[in-house]
Amino acid sequence: MSRNVDSVLCSLCGRKAAFFFREYSGEKLCRKCLTRSIETKVRATIAKYRMFKYGEKVAVAVSGGKDSISLLHVLSNLSMFKTKGSLVAVTVDEGIKDYRDEALLIASENCKALGLEHHVISFKEVYGFTLDEIMGELQLKNKRYLTPCVYCGVLRRKALNLIARDVGAAKIATAHTLDDEVQTILMNIFRGDFERLAKEQPVTEKVHPQFAQKVKPFCEIPEKESTLFAYLKQVKFQNKPCIYSSEAFRNEVRFIINCLEVNHPGTKFTVLKMINRMRPSLTEITTQNKFRDCMVCGEPASSGICRACELLKTLD
Ligand code: SF4
Ligand code: ZN
Ligand code: ZN
Repeated sequence: MSRNVDSVLCSLCGRKAAFFFREYSGEKLCRKCLTRSIETKVRATIAKYRMFKYGEKVAVAVSGGKDSISLLHVLSNLSMFKTKGSLVAVTVDEGIKDYRDEALLIASENCKALGLEHHVISFKEVYGFTLDEIMGELQLKNKRYLTPCVYCGVLRRKALNLIARDVGAAKIATAHTLDDEVQTILMNIFRGDFERLAKEQPVTEKVHPQFAQKVKPFCEIPEKESTLFAYLKQVKFQNKPCIYSSEAFRNEVRFIINCLEVNHPGTKFTVLKMINRMRPSLTEITTQNKFRDCMVCGEPASSGICRACELLKTLD
């Protein structure tokens, strides 16, 4: 995973205990300095993008995977979240057999250890179907035109917003890492999706009073470091991949960007920085959505019916 530089001096504390070579910065770090520097970087990212305001409640979206569990641990350590109830965890149970139950248990164990409230919302309670049931129905009716991840993504976004509103959270913190962000940027460029390129950002715009803003405190943390953080802190996380995981295009983009990063360390940061610099101009030339109430569920929608209800209609 990381180039082994054991018995080498740590660039930060000077101890002969470096074990990780951070190629994009040239630092050699010991275990303690690596975890500390990740925490420091997250604090700096939060300040740089003005992610949180003192006193506002934040919901961390916890799937149970390494990144969301690491994020939960980093945020729960911040002084701004020391007031009880200012930071809560939320998990969406999509209803994926042999996968989500284990993740839910792991998420709840971590919350318990950190003394945080954990709220769960399920597809079944919100939509009347689990993701497995939706896929089964579509299979039966020979209507599986879209991938499970499309259904899952759209329905989860809406469920997350509902649970954040229920618990009174102004912001939802998600564990998107630098790798996730750069992959999404490049996917949007390769697809020619200009609107999404402009909208995906470390802090999303407050486009409607009913929508919680999303913030990404790990957007400048490489996935490799988020994984190492979870291992070094010895936190429990889910390793098992989702049975539907099939994002072929993302995997191709991940491969390309990882190859570039090996030969040109720092490429991922360069892509993120470039888009951040371009964003004001991008935002200026995109159309702002006008919202009305969804005819089916009453939630805000940019057309007569929200995307979640539109997808559920394919089950009819
Ligand atoms: Fe949902 Fe796809 Fe992720 Fe599985 S891999 S949890 S279906 S988005
Ligand atoms: Zn050190
Ligand atoms: Zn709707």
